[in-house]
This record gives sequence, C-alpha cells and structure tokens, in this order.
Amino acid sequence: MKLPPKPKDGKIAYFDHAATTYVDSRVVKAMEPYWEKVFANPSSIYALGREANGAVNDARRKIAEILGTLSDTIFFTSGGTESNNLAIFGLMNKIGMRGKHVVTSAVEHHSVSGVCDYLKKNGAEVTVLPVDSAGRVNPEDVKKNIRKETALVTIMFANNEIGTVQPIAEIGKEILKHRSKNKTVYPFFHSDACQAAGALDLNVEKLHVDLMSVNGGKIYGPKGAGFLYKRRGVEIEPLFHGGGQEQGLRSGTENVPGIVGLAEAFFLIQKDRKKENLRLRGLRDKMWREINKKVLKIRLNGPELGDETVRLPNNLNFSILDIEGEALLLYLDEYGICCSTGSACNSKSLQPSPILTACGLPYEYIHGSLRFSFGKRNSLTDVNRVVKYLPPIADVLRSISPVNLCEEPSKNKHAKWLKKV
Ligand SMILES: *Cc1c(COP(=O)(O)O)cnc(C)c1O
Repeated sequence: MKLPPKPKDGKIAYFDHAATTYVDSRVVKAMEPYWEKVFANPSSIYALGREANGAVNDARRKIAEILGTLSDTIFFTSGGTESNNLAIFGLMNKIGMRGKHVVTSAVEHHSVSGVCDYLKKNGAEVTVLPVDSAGRVNPEDVKKNIRKETALVTIMFANNEIGTVQPIAEIGKEILKHRSKNKTVYPFFHSDACQAAGALDLNVEKLHVDLMSVNGGKIYGPKGAGFLYKRRGVEIEPLFHGGGQEQGLRSGTENVPGIVGLAEAFFLIQKDRKKENLRLRGLRDKMWREINKKVLKIRLNGPELGDETVRLPNNLNFSILDIEGEALLLYLDEYGICCSTGSACNSKSLQPSPILTACGLPYEYIHGSLRFSFGKRNSLTDVNRVVKYLPPIADVLRSISPVNLCEEPSKNKHAKWLKKV
C-alpha cells in the first residue's frame, strides 16, 4: 500500500477550532484604536483615560446584555484559566477550604480539575461525578451529592474534546431547590462555558449559574482575554491584590484592546450562532458519514451527532482501532490538515485523555482518537480534503506499523465499541 501524493496547493484545512480560533477581521478592526491611539490607562482621569475606560465599560455592557444581566457582574480576566481559578479558588479562599466540599465532574478542563486537585491537597473535599458513555453528567447525581458542607458545584457547559453539552439549566434548578429547601445560599454554581460561548445561549438566568467563565481565544477573539460572570451577592476573594481594578476583584491595568476585542467577538458569534450551528453540523455530519463509510474499525466518541442541545455542532471525535492517533495527526499535517488527538502520545502529555477515559473507552481506542473541531472558515472543500486523504493514510498506517500499545488490548470486546452508527 502506498500513501497518496500530497496536495501541492499549500492550503491548510484547519480543524482545531476547539484549541483556538483565528481572530475575526471585524474584531481586529474593533481593537485597532486601542493600541496606538486610545492607549491611556483607564484609571487616568484625563479625557484620553476616560475614553479608554469608556471602551472597557461599553465592552462590559455589551457582554452583560448577551448574558441577560447587569454590567457590574462582568469581571475581565486573562482568559478561561484565570476565570476558572478566580471563580473556584476565589470562593474557597473566601469561605475557607478545610472541611468544605466541592462537587465537580470527571470531564472538566484542566483549568478546573487542576484547581480541584489543589483544593483537595489543601483540606477541601472534592466529589468527582462520573459521566455516561457520552460524557454526560446526570443532574440526579449532582442532587444526591450536595450536602451541608458543599460550597460549590462546578460543571462545564460544553466539553472541549467530545462536545458533550451538559444539562446546566437542570443542574442549576436542582441547586436552587436545595438552597431554598435548606434556607442556605450554598452551594454556588459555576460553569466553564469557554467552549459553549460560540454555539449556545449563555443567558445566566435561564442557566441558573452564579459564576461562569468565557474566553476570547475560542470565539474568534483575542487570546489572553476572558471574563468571569459573578452574580451579585456571591462573595469571592481576588487572586491578585494591587490597584483594585474590576471592583477590587482583579487588580492590574485593564487589557483594553483585549477587552474590546473579546466583547466584539462574543457579540458577533452570538448574533450568528443559530445559522452557523446549522452550517457546521452539516459539514461535520458529512465528514463523519464519509469517513465512517471508508475506514474500517472506526467509532464515534461522545454523544450522537444531534443538535447543539446534545453536542457542540462543530465537534467530531472518533477512534480508529490499531492506529496511533498522533501518527495519523502528523501524517494529516503533511497533507495540509490540522486536527488533534486524545492519544497518550499527544505531544505535551503522557496521560491518555482523561475525558475519553471517563467515558469508559478502552485504552487502545483512546490511543487512536482524533478530534476535528470545525469553524467559520471551513467549507465543503476542507471536508473533502479530509475525506480524500484520511482513509488511505489510515490504511497505510495500519498495514505498516502494528501499534505498540502500552497495555493489553481488551480482547474480543471490539464488537461493542465498533457498533456502526
Ligand atoms: C480553552 C479552555 C480553557 C482555558 O482557556 P484559556 O483562555 O486558554 O486560559 C478552559 N476551559 C475550556 C473548556 C477550554 O476549552
């Protein structure tokens, strides 16, 4: 078997929007005045400073309106990681770690699970809820695990690897019921909405969240910019102490161009999300249909390919048995295709994806997993490129290199995992 000849057009079919997006040119344009012209410190009280401050507050209003809330509940940060740390760590620092309890899920982003690990080391108790094979948390499990000491429930809105959309509103309702029944303000409810912000309705009243994280780098806005929504009355400690910006919750001179770009990006993507969700689903479903037809021993990971209430419309994750995900990824790169893998060989980590592991997927499937995350610039041409090159490359890889698995494959169980969908 031979590899197909490489395309010579120099084009790239980028399918890694869940890692980060390009910045929309309209966002670049909105940010432009705030580098060289309106560069003043928003805390300065002369006209140029007031203008910069005005831009920050306009951005705050714009975001608050989309969330269906008031401007003073929006706190600008350096991105998703900081927003998650500020929410979780900030709350636990306020009320004390020792003896307090946090409920989270087994499929959180590292910037949540890492904080929870830290809390555990420092005296808090953490319950990590399991998920079903599609990566979904059961709201009943949340309800059952809330107790008197529970200070926080933190569950992501949509998953970055397999696109699972969690029943956030339902979980929120369970938490509200618990609070009113027990006449307490706890637990607070935090959700990491970094992956959801481009596709889903983020109205905080409908979701019943108290804290919510969003970043710019996943929604065609600038990286290194994000915000935390914090409901009035929810008290948390700052991570940074200093000049007292952002109502004292986030000291440091505001990233004015970043904030302006973040708000513009959020506005633009939310405005078009319903139409774009449909378009992305069309492309995603087509890619899966074609690849599923052409590649042997392949399975879809995560929820069924439904609408955005079930799975992010831009997420496709599948596993190919007897193939090393990272090898396939690197070959695809040679053919101008960018995607990602949950394989243990994933360049920066030695652990196979904890998300796929939590879904119960056996090791050898995680090893052969690939994620394609679609975005605004993807077209049928990009999909066709993957459909043309991925199947023959997979065949060649399978024929030349028996995969060297670090663990024994689960024998004779493949029928279950390779059921055609
Ligand atoms: C990317 C991402 C983050 C981290 O955001 P940064 O802006 O890179 O710090 C957190 N949570 C989820 C779900 C993400 O996808």
